[in-house]
Amino acid sequence: MSETMKAMLVERTGTPDVMQLRDVPRPAPRAGQVLLRVEAVGVNFADVLNVAGQYLTAPKLPHIPGMELAGTVEALGEGVSGVQVGQRVAALGGTGGLAEYAAVPAAGLVPVPDSFTPAQAAAFPVSYMTAYHALKTLGRGEAGEWVLVQAAAGALGTASVQLAVALGMKVIALASTEEKLQIARDLGADVTILQDDPERVQKVREAAGGQGVPLLLEVVGGARFEESLKMVAPLGRIVFIGNASREEVSLNPAALMKRNISVTGLWLTSLMTDPRISAAAAQGLTPLIASGKVVPQVGPTYALTDSPRAFQDMLDRKTTGKVIIEPQR
Ligand code: NDP
Repeated sequence: MSETMKAMLVERTGTPDVMQLRDVPRPAPRAGQVLLRVEAVGVNFADVLNVAGQYLTAPKLPHIPGMELAGTVEALGEGVSGVQVGQRVAALGGTGGLAEYAAVPAAGLVPVPDSFTPAQAAAFPVSYMTAYHALKTLGRGEAGEWVLVQAAAGALGTASVQLAVALGMKVIALASTEEKLQIARDLGADVTILQDDPERVQKVREAAGGQGVPLLLEVVGGARFEESLKMVAPLGRIVFIGNASREEVSLNPAALMKRNISVTGLWLTSLMTDPRISAAAAQGLTPLIASGKVVPQVGPTYALTDSPRAFQDMLDRKTTGKVIIEPQR
């Protein structure tokens, strides 16, 4: 095996084209890590923000992006057990996915059902675990309840619509184009409304029985967040998951009092540090995967060299489902 490999390297933050294809040393797995031959990488909005230097945590430079990947175990670091060379796995919680090989923490390995392709395996962990935590762990959603899903044709959006339907919830989907709304309908959304429909607040309230939705998953943020407060019913719950608009968001807690609204933040990275919470999510998701009700929604796929284009397409809202990069192509 070659001692070097191809990787997308970020040496300074900025627009996606700061990523450059480089030959870099192939990593050796350290204690507690496994080396993966990377077959597919799921690109998250967080990766795009990270390259721009706009994420919750600042990236160490230089770095290779890619926190969600699927591949085959190539070698085990010291002290790693419970996983074998040759096993297909997905991995979370590391970095360095946009490369032919990546050394990732064994603690972040996710088993892959035989039925999943590498692209499906890479499309699953972040979006579906986040959707589960938003709908159930923090959102406390129940069958029969209305939930509003923003950016419903995106990676997290498609996962949220599909999972909510599988859990027996009723879905109102918002997205920016008719094509995106059709994707949400195909996944079972009951009501679809254009993100820029001037009547959107009224339409959401009416669709959910006049008062608004009991549960709303916020991923756009910015100025839209104020509208979200009007779209939820009395005693409604808003789970704040993302700020894709990258605009300033303001929240006056006094505005929550009159209608007893609660707003909860969600960050998968920190939730994953609690093994009980992760195990409960895995337990909730496993039967839905086995029954075929949950099928990862793979979006456009790109070669490693086209990573900057993949990131730019996400920023330009051109993609639907999970954007995948295939480093072995
Ligand atoms: P997506 O593939 O869903 O892409 C983002 C979508 O956001 C776009 O397609 C677009 O949908 C919508 N959007 C609205 N305003 C903008 C804007 N100004 N620029 C770009 N997109 C915009 O990506 P992900 O599924 O990875 O992420 C979706 C959101 O969820 C992000 O905010 C992300 O940070 C968050 N997230 C948070 C997690 C957490 O742990 N807290 C985990 C995973 C995701 P449309 O055109 O329909 O409006």
